[in-house]
Amino acid sequence: MPEQKTLVMKFGGTSVGSADALKSAVQIIQDAKRDWARVVVVTSAMSGVTNLLLDSAASASQGTVDTLRESESALRAKHFDTLNTLVEDESLREEAKQEIDALILSFVNLCNAMAVLGEASPRAMDAVASLGERMSLRLLGAVVNDAGIKAKTVESTGFVVTNDHFQNAHPDFKVTIEKTRASLNPLLDDGIVPITTGFIGATPEGAITTLGRGGSDYSAAIIGSVLPADDVWIWTDVDGIMTTDPRIESKAITLPEIGYNEIAELAYYGAKVLHPKTIRPVLDAGIGLRICNTFNPSHPGTRLVASVKSNGKVDGKVVKAVTAIRKQRLITIEGRGMLGVPGVAARAFGAVASTKTSVPLITQASSEQSICFAVPSELSPMVLSALEQAFASEIADEDIDRVWATDDVSIITVVGAGMRHTPGVSGQVFSKLGSHNVNVLAIAQGSSEVSISLVVDTTDTENAVKALHELIVN
Ligand code: ASP
Ligand code: MG
Repeated sequence: MPEQKTLVMKFGGTSVGSADALKSAVQIIQDAKRDWARVVVVTSAMSGVTNLLLDSAASASQGTVDTLRESESALRAKHFDTLNTLVEDESLREEAKQEIDALILSFVNLCNAMAVLGEASPRAMDAVASLGERMSLRLLGAVVNDAGIKAKTVESTGFVVTNDHFQNAHPDFKVTIEKTRASLNPLLDDGIVPITTGFIGATPEGAITTLGRGGSDYSAAIIGSVLPADDVWIWTDVDGIMTTDPRIESKAITLPEIGYNEIAELAYYGAKVLHPKTIRPVLDAGIGLRICNTFNPSHPGTRLVASVKSNGKVDGKVVKAVTAIRKQRLITIEGRGMLGVPGVAARAFGAVASTKTSVPLITQASSEQSICFAVPSELSPMVLSALEQAFASEIADEDIDRVWATDDVSIITVVGAGMRHTPGVSGQVFSKLGSHNVNVLAIAQGSSEVSISLVVDTTDTENAVKALHELIVN
C-alpha cells in the first residue's frame, strides 16, 4: 500500500441513480480502498431527484400542491426500491429508510409552507434542493456498509462553510480547511471511508446552502484541496472528455489527457462534463484530477494535467476538441457615428449586463463602425430592447444606425493549447471549413490562444463540427 495517500472520489447522479450503478460504485470503492490508504466518497443526489425536488417546490410556491403526493411517492420508491434490492442487513436497511422518510417529510412540509406563503425564497429552495444529496447519502452509506466496507456518513453541511449567497454559495476556504480536517481526518486515520454529500454546505449560522446546479464536482474539488488529497476522481457516465459530441460525429474519441486551460475553455463553450468551478481549487492545490466512467471502470478516462505534454499535441495533433453551442444570436450595433466615440462598448455591455445575460463571444471590426456579440437566442429580444433604450438618443441622432439580431446561429469552438506555438492553425481551420462549404459569419480568438471560435448558421452546425474534427481524427 502506498504511504498514506488520499483519494477523493465523487459519484455523479447517474452513478448512484440505480441499483446496477450502485453495485458498480461499491466495487469501485472497494478497489480504491486496496490501492489508497485514505479514501473519501462524495455523492450527488440520485439522477432526476434534484430536478424533481426543485420543480415541486416551484409549483408549490405558485399554489399547486396536487402533484406533491406523487413526487413524495416517487422519491420514496426510488430510494426504497434500491435499498430493498441491495441491502441485505435489515437494520441497516430500515435505519436508512427511516432517515430518508424523515427527509421526505421535511420536503413535504417545506413545499406546503411555500404554498401557504406563495413564495420560494432562495434560502428555502436550497433547503429543498439539499434533500436529494441528504437522501442519497443514507442510501449509499447503507449499501457500502452492507458490502462490508468500513464507512461512515457525514453531511458536508458540518464542514463546508459558505457565505449566504443561496443557490450559488461560495465557500470560506479558511474555515472549511479547519472543519473538514477536523471532521474527516479522525475517520481516515482509523481506516474508515467517510461518505459525504456533494453540492451542499452551510453558512456559519448553520443555514443550508448549495454551490450551484451540478455543484457536487465542485464539492469534491473543495474537499480534495483542503485535506489535501493527492487525487480527485470524478465518476460519471461517460468515458471522459471527448474530442467532440459523439452524437454529431461518431468518430469522436476520449482524450487521455487535457490541460486545465483547455478544459476551462471547453466548459465555457458548452461541454458539460465538469462543473467549471471544479478546476480552480485542484489547480491551486496542485492535485490530480481524473474523470472516469462508473459504467466502464476499467477505462482510464481523462486526466487533467497542468501542462500538456509535447507542446500540447496528442499524437501530433494540435487541435484537441471541437464544441458547438447552438441557439445563439449575433447582435450588432452599427453606425458611422460610433467611430472614435469612447464608451460605446462599455455602455452596450452595461445594458446587456442589466438583463443578466452573459455573452460567450464578442468581435469588433477595426473600423469601429460596429460591435457584434453573441447571446442565447431566447434572451435576444430582451437584450435588443435594453440596447435600444440605452442608446435611444444616439439612435434618434442617427449616430447609431441600427441595433439588430441575426437568426439563430451556432458558435463552434476549436480548443487546443498547442495552437499557441503552432503557426497556421487558423489557416487549417478555415481551409477545412471552406472545403466543406461552411460559411463563417464571425470569428473570435481568445487572447490565451487556447481556442478559436467561429459563428456559423444553425444549418451548418453539424457540417462545421465534422469538418473541424478531421483536424483531430480522420
Ligand atoms: N444534485 C445536484 C444537481 O443536480 C448537484 C450535482 O448533481 O452535482 O444539480
Ligand atoms: Mg449531476
